[in-house]
Formats: sequence, C-alpha cells, structure tokens
Amino acid sequence: MSNLSLGRAEELDNLLKIAGVELIDFVNKADVERNQHLARALNSECGPHSCLVHPQSSSQHDLESSLESFLNIRDTGAGLEGLPKLIETILEYSVNTSAPGFLDKLYAAPLPPGILAELVLGVLNTNVHVYQVSPVLTLIEKHVARHLAHLFGLRGPRSGGISVQGGSASNMTSIVIARNTVFPETRTYGNSAVKGRLILFTSAHGHYSIEKAAQSLGFGSSSVITVPVDEDGRMLPEELSRMVAEAKSRGDFPFYVNATAGTTVLGSFDPFEEIANVARKHNLWLHIDGAWGGGFVFSNREQIRNRLQGTELADSIAINPHKMLGVPMTCSFLLGKDLEQFQRANTLKAGYLFHDETGSDNDIDKFESLLDDAHDHRSSEDDDLWASPYDLADLTLQCGRRGDALKLFLCWQYHGTKGYSEMVDNAYDVACYMSRLVKDNKHLTLLSREKDPSCLQVCFYFTPNGRFTYGLLDQEGIINPSEGLLNGTAEIRHYSRGSRSRARLGKLNSRMTASISKALIPRGFMIDFAPALEGQEDRGSFFRVVVNISTIQETASRLIGELVTIGTSLVREIEDQSNGLRRTRD
Ligand SMILES: *Cc1c(COP(=O)(O)O)cnc(C)c1O
Repeated sequence: MSNLSLGRAEELDNLLKIAGVELIDFVNKADVERNQHLARALNSECGPHSCLVHPQSSSQHDLESSLESFLNIRDTGAGLEGLPKLIETILEYSVNTSAPGFLDKLYAAPLPPGILAELVLGVLNTNVHVYQVSPVLTLIEKHVARHLAHLFGLRGPRSGGISVQGGSASNMTSIVIARNTVFPETRTYGNSAVKGRLILFTSAHGHYSIEKAAQSLGFGSSSVITVPVDEDGRMLPEELSRMVAEAKSRGDFPFYVNATAGTTVLGSFDPFEEIANVARKHNLWLHIDGAWGGGFVFSNREQIRNRLQGTELADSIAINPHKMLGVPMTCSFLLGKDLEQFQRANTLKAGYLFHDETGSDNDIDKFESLLDDAHDHRSSEDDDLWASPYDLADLTLQCGRRGDALKLFLCWQYHGTKGYSEMVDNAYDVACYMSRLVKDNKHLTLLSREKDPSCLQVCFYFTPNGRFTYGLLDQEGIINPSEGLLNGTAEIRHYSRGSRSRARLGKLNSRMTASISKALIPRGFMIDFAPALEGQEDRGSFFRVVVNISTIQETASRLIGELVTIGTSLVREIEDQSNGLRRTRD
C-alpha cells in the first residue's frame, strides 16, 4: 500500500527491488535462449516453450478474457504486496524483444545502458523544453545531435539537431521546416500564400510517413509524387528530375524531396549525390530519411559507409537510434545543416515559456525581420546575430519534450564510437551470413540479385525445390504447371475457374508465407512479411527478416532450418488434405 508515512525514497527502493528481480529474470530468459542457440541445442532440450511470447497472446479475445481481473481497475490499491503479481503478468504476456528470435520490426533488444537511462529519465521527470528545468539534459541533447550530424558530414557552424518523438515526427518536422524556409510567408498565411500547389517527392519505396505528414499539414497526400525505383529499390534520379520539371511546367511549386537511407522493406539506399544535384538545380529541400539505415553511419567499413555517400549534401536527416542502435523506444533525431532554419520555422512567442537573458519574454522580432531575407544569401554578419538556443522547444513542433537523447548518450558513452562500429559491422556480417544461407538453400529464393543485403533485412520466398507453392503466371496469364507445387489442390482448381489475375494467385502464395510466419512464433521466431513488389504480384508476400545488433549466426541458421521444416510439412499437409478431398469425391 502506498503510504505517506513511508518516504518516497524508501518506497521507490522497495518497488525497484521487487520489479528488479522480475525484470532481470525476463532478460535472463532471453539470454538463456540465446545460449541455447549458440550451443546449437535441439528443440527438445530447450524447455516447454520459447520466452519470445506466451502462446495465449496470439488471440486478443482469449487474452482479454483471461486477464479480466488483472485489467479491472481496483477500488482498493494492490500496494507493494500486489505489485509482483502485476509486473509478472505484464511480462508474461509481452513479447520479449530481447529473445534471440525477435527478428520482426526494425527495433529490437534494448541495450542495458539504455534501459538504465529510461529509469534515470523517470526519476528526473523533467522537460527538455527550456534549459532552466533540464540543464545537463539540454546540453546532452545538443551535443549528441551535433555529433550525429558530424558523422553524416553536416559540419557547418550551425549544424546540429533535435530529438523528436519518432521517425514519422522527424520527417514531418523536416517538411514544416522546409516549407517555412522556402516559403516563409506560409508561416503566417498558410499554404494558400503560395499561388500554386506545393509538391513533395519521395520514392515508391519511401516510408508512408511522408504522405501522412502531407495529409496533416494541409498539402493533401496527392501532393506527394512518388518517384519510381530501380530493381534494387533505389530512387531513379533521372525520373525525379523529369517529374520535378513536369510539375513546374504545370505551374506547381515543388519544394521538397525525401530520399531514404535504408528503406523499410528492402533496406535500399537512394543515390544521394545524384538526388542532391537535382535538388540543387530546382531549389528543393533535400531531406534524407535515415530512420532505419542511418545507423550505418557508425560502420567502419567502406563497403557499408559508401551507401551513405552524399548525406553531407542534405538539408536535414532523420535517424532513429531506437531502431538499429538498440536504444529503447523511442529515440529519434532530426539533424540539420543549419539549426537557425529550424528555429525560424518553428519559433513562436510564448512569454510564459521562453524568456530572454534579462528574464523578459524572448524577442522573436529579429527572426521576423530576418524572414524577409533570402534564406540562402546571408552574410557572415548575420551569422553573428544568431546563437544556437538552449531552450530547445523553440526549434521543434512540441512544447513538452522527453529527454530521449540521454538514452543514446548513455549507450554511446558506455560502448564508445568503436563499440557501436563493431556492433553495426557484426550485425551486417550476420545479415550477410543469413543471406548466403538463403541463397544456398534450394527451398528458398532470395529477393535481391545480390548475395549480400543492402542493409540488415534479408528478404526471401519459400520455394520448395525452386517452385512457388501455388505456381506463377506465365505471359498469357496461365498458371505454368511446372512452376506450381500444389497444382492439384482445390484452391488451384477454384482459381482456374475464376478470373485469373496475378493478385489472386498472389493471395494463395501469400497464405503460405503468412502460415509459416505464424507457425514460427511458438518455436521462438517472430519475423514479418511484406507484400509482393510491383509486377511480381503473383508471387505473393515475402519474408522480411530483420537482423539486429544482438543477433548471432547460430540464430540465423536455426531460423532458416525451422522455416524450411515448417514450410515443407505445411505443403505436405495441404497435399494430403487435397488428396483426401479428392478421394471422398471420387
Ligand atoms: C520506421 C521508419 C520510419 C518511422 O519511424 P517511427 O519512429 O516508427 O515513426 C520512417 N522512415 C523509415 C525509413 C522507417 O524505417
């Protein structure tokens, strides 16, 4: 029972002792499982079920009804005595992202120093909107962001960044800054101050947050033009150039291009230098969405670092340390070559929050007057006018802000830049290893032509003996019998009677992918799948396995083994079922 006569320090101490035991046990289970992978232990030696997730979690309704009393809010508090049970239940029905087989979305096992930072933030419970209430956290954010910006080659005197609530928010903020910088009048008068449509460009494989931001910011999603990609999922700069010119000739106002460092599905890196040339020629703001692949900036290998060539030409860059860098959710930064642009785009008078050095309201008049200047033709005299602010909310879309930068800071100080380089390079080695396993397995087909993946995702199909389970369509739209494994099944006979489209056949093939993915969960593997690429719809969805900085080779080989075993027995099951059906009908 929380008790006012008990000091808060003592109460916290008690809570931490109880929760600490549960939390350490939770992470320990993941370590034990990882060691079993390392020792190549057989499934039969590994205990009742994987620590990845409780089997009951697979059904929302079952879980909801079995947790009814847990979810009901009590009249009388459970107090210290009730706490262990509460924590235990939460952990039991959560996905253990530290489990070796969690290879699903782009985040993964949190690094322990990052977990500690979360706790520190909770104790500090402060707000990084103004310096006065977060002195060292403000300095940490400024320095960490500036360091990151330097790694990407943004090294000017005003380079730096801000922490943001996530990658989508980083991307959205970059659009606001771009618009308010390129068209300062929109700050006051809105998008209609520009006598024409404002247009943004992103690649066909870019993250959907760009469209979402366009919806929210009053452009509308149709203002986002998607530029086609090459076979490897990289934006075609010549297409961008053509489409920008086309938009201009329609009387529209292109002002922003989003290039991606590590696309969400394939992990492709757009050709930044060529895109920067187009951006410069047409005066577009160049944003690089490195939410995922930006972590490669820590790599020591030229082969990997080369993918980030040209990032120094960007106006802004997003990176999510909560993805590749193992920092607990959420931790994201928007970096920029000139933070004054961030401030001029977002500053507003709020005397109750921001005060200048004399203690009065901050004076934004100087920004208002500067707004009239052309943003890219300032003299060095103007440079002296601007001092990078310490009240960081003035640069952002937020007011109250979490000190998320501390989480990256502690992980980075703990492991050092060298430690991070090693972790990222090792992760890439494991991704290459898995990719080769897939390439060399006669029941799997790698999506990319290259053996080595472009980032940490390995994308592939289950194709027993080189064939898609339900076949593929040939040029005439007929199922090629030699291509399909399950030609005799009811599904295929039904398919053949209906309208034959690539997408319909793809649905059948997708079912196999989804079933395998689901069957892998109780065996300790959570992997995702993605819809077929354009023009390959008959293949259906493919597996996207995401390697992280804690993944070991043994987990990779174990996953591939399990996946093929499950797939093979699923195929056999469908065949048996189909034969059984045929017999009953005969
Ligand atoms: C994950 C991702 C985002 C979105 O980041 P959130 O933090 O989930 O909002 C944006 N862009 C890319 C390329 C991503 O992979």
